[in-house]
Amino acid sequence: MLDPFRISVGGRFVETPETFEVLDPATEQVLSWAPDCPADLLDEVIEGARTAQRVWHEDESGRRQALRDVSAVLRAHADALSDILTREQGRILADTRGEIDASAWWLEQVAAMEIPRYVPLDDDGGRVEVRRRPHGVVAAITPWNYPILLAVAKVGPALLVGNTVVVKPSEYTPLTTLRIGELLADVLPPGALTVVSGGGSLGARMTTHPGIDMVSFTGSIPTGVAVARAVAPTLRRVSLELGGNDASIVLADADVDRVVDGVFDSVFEDCGQACIGVKRLYVHADLYDDVVDGLVARAERTRVGSGLDPHSEMGPVNNRAQLDRIIELTEDAARHGARILSGGRRLDRSGYFIPPTIVTGVEEGVRLVDEEQFGPVLPVMPFRDVDDAVARANTGPFGLGGSVWTRDRDRAQQVASRLECGTVWINHHKRVHPAVPFGGLKMSGLGTESGTAGLEEFSSPQAVYDRT
Ligand code: NAD
Repeated sequence: MLDPFRISVGGRFVETPETFEVLDPATEQVLSWAPDCPADLLDEVIEGARTAQRVWHEDESGRRQALRDVSAVLRAHADALSDILTREQGRILADTRGEIDASAWWLEQVAAMEIPRYVPLDDDGGRVEVRRRPHGVVAAITPWNYPILLAVAKVGPALLVGNTVVVKPSEYTPLTTLRIGELLADVLPPGALTVVSGGGSLGARMTTHPGIDMVSFTGSIPTGVAVARAVAPTLRRVSLELGGNDASIVLADADVDRVVDGVFDSVFEDCGQACIGVKRLYVHADLYDDVVDGLVARAERTRVGSGLDPHSEMGPVNNRAQLDRIIELTEDAARHGARILSGGRRLDRSGYFIPPTIVTGVEEGVRLVDEEQFGPVLPVMPFRDVDDAVARANTGPFGLGGSVWTRDRDRAQQVASRLECGTVWINHHKRVHPAVPFGGLKMSGLGTESGTAGLEEFSSPQAVYDRT
């Protein structure tokens, strides 16, 4: 068990009247306790962030150095942070270590990004320069699947353009983010970045708090809709990175081994708990049996166990509610005629373990295909006609990511341009990069993270007309 965690406010550790348990999904035992941030402490944190922002936004080179300093802290503590992350999230150590390393690297990349400014007009009437103004204080609300990378994807650009940030991680995975908040107490000016913890009601309070200028939210579609409603009366800025149901289309000329390994890794490396993992696989009928056989073989070879065990290749699902949902969707599919070719049920041991589950015999109209399962279950469906596969991929309210697998680059590009989603991968699925804009179409999101567009999301244009 780990010692209780604390909220660090301006370098001071604050005791809260209430705490909440955080469970280890591999054991279902209490891992530690996180502070439940009360309303008056949230007021104090946001007031501190407002005060800090007045100075913070004036020193661009100082902010760039600060991001590099935060990155150095993540690197210096990567072992300890990934250990906590594996215990609270469940993913295997190599993977959570990868998340911490990627987060450190991400911040370094962001620190070097140019903040857009341009001159759209320079004539007899004067010179006009368009610069970016930060919104002020950003509330960054994150989910439990990649708590650190998803926070960093907000914090980096938000801080760089001159905002200060209050981060609220998921109540399922608050610990690593809280520890980073503690570690940064000596690194950043007080109020620049504060981590608070609590449940959905704390998130809701942040979205309506008068001291918050922007809400940057990553999580499920229903919560995203609630956030949009909450910010509407004051028109405060909002960006929503929401759920996905990514379809992957395998054309008849694809390399089967590459598809099997690429898709399998994309889905199961994080136990199916990525917003942009493959969640529906459409395979041309000529390759269908080979791809299904390959996926089942990989599934049966996968060693499922505690993320701390170096022999494990896949850890548990993060929480009980999610486990129950995955079982429910799988059982519902079975009732509708699905064949469960591997996995399909919880392991007979403590911990939220479900082995990689490959499902055939389903199609649109079955919940497992229509909804975001967000777990280690992959429905695989055959098609003959590419137009049909594209139409099926585009069905439904989601529009986050998609992929196409083929040896034919031109064909891949044609299919890619027809997919209704914010990101398309060709012959892989899931890479993201700080220089590349990321966001969902349709109900998968509103607004953009990363890239120049991401910097713009955390700021507003200010046009300065100059006649001196
Ligand atoms: P969730 O919506 O349940 O919770 C996300 C966060 O919102 C948590 O911190 C939670 O405490 C907070 N919250 C809950 N109610 C709130 C409210 N009324 N107001 C404000 N905040 C509130 O999501 P989750 O189950 O933690 O995460 C899984 C979901 O996140 C999946 O749908 C997944 O696809 C999505 N996701 C999207 C992206 C992306 O970039 N598009 C990335 C990762 C995860």
